[in-house]
Amino acid sequence: MKGEFQPGSAERKELSPAADLAGRVVRAVEEALHLPHSAPRDEGLLREVEGLDTLLEEIGVLREFSLALSRGELGYKTRQGGLIIGALKALQANLRHLTWQAQRIAAGDLDVRVNFLGQFSEAFNCMAERLKETLEEKENIAARYKDLSAHDPLTGLYNRAAFQELMARLLSSEAYREKMSALIISDIDYFKNINDSFGHQCGDEVLRRVSGLYRDSLRADDVVCRYGGEEFLILTPGISRNVACRIAQRLCDSVRAMQIIWEDSVVPVTASFGVCSLPPVGEEGFGPRFLREHIQIADLNLYRAKHAGRDRVVSGDCDDADAGAGCGGQEN
Ligand code: GH3
Ligand code: MG
Ligand code: MG
Repeated sequence: MKGEFQPGSAERKELSPAADLAGRVVRAVEEALHLPHSAPRDEGLLREVEGLDTLLEEIGVLREFSLALSRGELGYKTRQGGLIIGALKALQANLRHLTWQAQRIAAGDLDVRVNFLGQFSEAFNCMAERLKETLEEKENIAARYKDLSAHDPLTGLYNRAAFQELMARLLSSEAYREKMSALIISDIDYFKNINDSFGHQCGDEVLRRVSGLYRDSLRADDVVCRYGGEEFLILTPGISRNVACRIAQRLCDSVRAMQIIWEDSVVPVTASFGVCSLPPVGEEGFGPRFLREHIQIADLNLYRAKHAGRDRVVSGDCDDADAGAGCGGQEN
């Protein structure tokens, strides 16, 4: 069409000098934006258009800066002013802050929240919130399973495995490593008769009541576990056998004095006890053999208590002259 601008056409030559200059400026700006390296400078053009030199320089800096940002290089610094560079610098600062917050989350601080970049920060905060909820849920489940795996469901006492672990930790600790301790084994007398006469549910109730009594009567550092059906193991760390005997006698008296009523009938309950002293584990530390050997001694004393008529405490170590002596509330 006549009069219309056709690049490279003969009519281009007819353009006014001003339009020609504008065209050259546009091409110079386009080159600065698109070429990987700046094109040779048209010194004539730069002299003709005031400020073009600075504009081309700013475009160059802007290109470098945005390319660095797109590569994730947040450390790129420019002292160039200008509206667009200012905005990009603000974006860079926000991204740098975001990187830091993400690093804090990675280090375990899940309370981090951000409040910039609009929808992006909403999504980021939502992610952090969900992550925190998921981890808390996971920790709760893990704690619940750990608790279940360490306790007997009927009585709530520690089970054997947890008892052994706690015993190892306590006896090897600085507080008790060099001290004598004691082990008490307790067995409810004629428990089968209780089940047979009053029923299994009554038997379960007796187990719960005896467990509660033991747990409430002992010190915070003492550990009690349900060792078997109606058998309990008690560790009294840092305590001599004589003192442990007195503790066992107190428990024995308390079991006998317990008032258990089942369907309007009194359920008579007594228990027998075997006590054994534990030498300091010292540098050697605690091993499974140590526990096995001392449980055997406590068990032997329990057997002696049963044999002597039940409802009593017997202590004594294998090599004692008074092995198998009854405690009867006396020191021995
Ligand atoms: P001894 O005085 O010699 O210890 O006699 P005992 O009757 O207490 O001992 P025995 O080993 O003959 O019986 C223990 C009974 O404990 C047998 C078993 O059915 C019962 N028992 C084991 N676990 C439980 C339980 O969880 N609940 C109830 N109700 N009974 C249990
Ligand atoms: Mg029994
Ligand atoms: Mg038994």
